Amino acid sequence: MAEREKKYRVTIGLEAHAQLNTKSKLFCSCPTKFGAPPNTQTCPVCLGLPGALPVLNKKAVESAIKLGLAMKCRIAKESIFARKNYFYPDLPKGYQITQFDRPICESGFLEIKSNGKKKKISIGRIHLEEDAGKSIHNEPFVPSEATLIDLNRCGIPLLEIVTEPELRSPDEAVDFVQRLQQMLRFLQISNANLEQGSLRCDANISVNTANARELSAKTEIKNLNSLKALARALVHEIERQKKLIFSGKVLNSATVLWDDKNQTTRTMRSKETAHDYRYFSEPDLLPLKISADLIKKIESQMPELPSAKIARFLQEYQLTEADAEILTLTPPRADLFEWITKQIGDASLASKWMIQEFLRYENNLFSQKKRTWEIDIAELLTLVKNQKLSWRAAKEIFSEMVVAKKSPHEIMKQKQLFQLSDEAKLEEIIRRIIDENQEALAQYRAGKKPLFHYFVGQIMQKTGGRADPKMANKILRAILDSM
Ligand SMILES: [Zn+2]
Repeated sequence: MAEREKKYRVTIGLEAHAQLNTKSKLFCSCPTKFGAPPNTQTCPVCLGLPGALPVLNKKAVESAIKLGLAMKCRIAKESIFARKNYFYPDLPKGYQITQFDRPICESGFLEIKSNGKKKKISIGRIHLEEDAGKSIHNEPFVPSEATLIDLNRCGIPLLEIVTEPELRSPDEAVDFVQRLQQMLRFLQISNANLEQGSLRCDANISVNTANARELSAKTEIKNLNSLKALARALVHEIERQKKLIFSGKVLNSATVLWDDKNQTTRTMRSKETAHDYRYFSEPDLLPLKISADLIKKIESQMPELPSAKIARFLQEYQLTEADAEILTLTPPRADLFEWITKQIGDASLASKWMIQEFLRYENNLFSQKKRTWEIDIAELLTLVKNQKLSWRAAKEIFSEMVVAKKSPHEIMKQKQLFQLSDEAKLEEIIRRIIDENQEALAQYRAGKKPLFHYFVGQIMQKTGGRADPKMANKILRAILDSM
């Protein structure tokens, strides 16, 4: 590390918005279904028409409490909503209902991994708020200079999760977002998909000289819609701020947009950076009271969380920690692993199969409506376990299964992939191979022992990879030793 590199320190804080997967909006009964024609999922409440009164969605409150409990937050006994006032074309009310000084959850943490070590990142707050609508421009069907407005998103429930500025590198920030994503999915409260906008992320970053007491100005980066974009934007911003620091220039606080296509940031228009929001408490909603009973009820219904699942997998299935982490990344993946293990009675075979073979087809398979492939995989692995099928053949069948959507048995019959484990037949084949390779045999007998592998290769080639490797090795060794 260059001398100069040691002299600075990176501080990153994240603000994440997770879209809750409730059936109706935060303050009205409009549906939240994605992809409906513009302005078809609205009502006087979310359109902000005069006299319409908001009614809080109980399910959204429960989701917020769930995440708060999972992140060991303090859950407020009484929480209040506020109006955040600003003008924007896709915000017909002229304000957004959010929470300001009394959020539902405060002071928790989420554990991440940094250079292989565990590290707790403090969560400052988690609060509920409604989304705004969507302005549509720069699309082929929109005349230039025109903006169309779709208010379907108005009132969609969001959870805002705010970390303390404790992240020290782009890697840590990416790991945090991944673990947040995982948590939201385990709790089944959000799809948490960055690319589809159901998880959105802003990052605050400042670079300081290592001995600086106070943080210097910071940059807030918006529009980070993938983990790659998050990492790239942070790396870009660190480099930019470092250059400024080392050239002795002053950094100004700014809000910028990340442009992933051109790998650069651009400053937002001034009206978007205005921080004068004029918060005041929402007069149409009573303070939200959260009873101890409700918290207890939610606590009793909490699913097994990622860290608990990993611990259990280590103990119950004797997996390595790295494998347990991979297998518990999403609930469907973890469930599938456990289901297959139960079917075939072999956790180590199931985990090896999941990680080496299944993952490359995971998206394809999980997106299929009919899940008959689960049974097919169990059948396939039972054949491997009973040594009726080699790993190589099983792999071949599996890829065909995914493409052709046929059962393993059909493919096996068609391709004659059954493992050759008939001892007499195998011995016959091996003797023939030795016969046909007299020169190699002579060399082997003269002391060139690595030629053993040459014979193994010949056996595999002659049997199209179907020979049971253990048995073939044993027979070959016995024949060669007896010569
Ligand atoms: Zn509505």
